[in-house]
Amino acid sequence: MSKKDAKEITIYDLPGVGAATAEKLKEAGYETLMAIAVATPGEITELSGLGEAAARKIINFARNSMNMGFETGEDVMKRREALTKLSTGSKNMDTLFGGGVETGSITECYGAFGSGKTSLAHQLAVNVQLPKERGGAEGIAVWIDSESTFRPERIKQICTDLGVDALETLRNIQVVRVFNSDHQMLVAEKVEELITKDKLPVKLVVVDSLMAHFRAEFVGRGTLADRQQKLNKHMHVLMKMADMYNFAVYVTNQVMAKPDTFFGDPTTAIGGNIVGHNSQTRVYLRRGKGGTRVAKLVDSPHLPDGEAVFQVTEGGIKDA
Ligand code: ADP
Ligand code: MG
Repeated sequence: MSKKDAKEITIYDLPGVGAATAEKLKEAGYETLMAIAVATPGEITELSGLGEAAARKIINFARNSMNMGFETGEDVMKRREALTKLSTGSKNMDTLFGGGVETGSITECYGAFGSGKTSLAHQLAVNVQLPKERGGAEGIAVWIDSESTFRPERIKQICTDLGVDALETLRNIQVVRVFNSDHQMLVAEKVEELITKDKLPVKLVVVDSLMAHFRAEFVGRGTLADRQQKLNKHMHVLMKMADMYNFAVYVTNQVMAKPDTFFGDPTTAIGGNIVGHNSQTRVYLRRGKGGTRVAKLVDSPHLPDGEAVFQVTEGGIKDA
């Protein structure tokens, strides 16, 4: 697809869209032609007041003017070459991940309390700021914090270990506490504005943890469908933006005991198929021998399953 062409035509050129509607779309976060092109008619209708037919028309217009459609395997390869891998701090884990946590998609780590999920988030929030040669992307991090687990002290310790300036590093992490699932969803959508309006080079979005609010708010069978629908929307927003702006999304997830499993792994990620289907890379973290941690790649579109041993130290994530 040609992003250059898309830049010349703006949302103000959409057929049947006056200045007022264009402003509304912009306010709702649909500022680029790409955002319109990948939206659903329902979203556009809800946010702009346009009718369903009109919404379809502008989506099609955006799609046609972006020349979106089939691309060759070579095109895909070239696009994938633009992806960056963020180092986890552990060579073992980087190798397991095919070089690191990839930009352009969602990586999910799930595991029991204390398995290292939040520690890895801190490490990535620092590493994303490093130059490419050191496993970074020279970008900034956004941290969507649902469990109040972000700790500046941990960032400082990791910075000391790496020999980088802690204050500057902290300035390049945008932290936002979210108080319920609606708030979390809204904040995720607002990440786009940090990029388009504030021109911040966001290369990592952390959601720690993805499910805490969803799990607490939707209890019981009857509300499960509602929860899954909202969760799906939330993850779609994250995925779309990760792809559009080429940043990494790192989400943490909790586990639940599976009472019917006697052999093998007794735990499974919560959130059901929705979370699984929307996370391109899934990793299970657990405690290993002698204080180590084990990362197990559970699902990846292009990597073999495997395990890596690492440890959480004062200076951050390291090989074990
Ligand atoms: P999770 O998010 O999966 O619950 P965490 O990433 O918060 O797990 O891991 C917590 C563990 O990380 C602690 O049990 C401890 O072993 C380790 N840890 C946290 N802070 C430090 C530190 N400053 N120095 C060494 N280890 C630490
Ligand atoms: Mg945690």
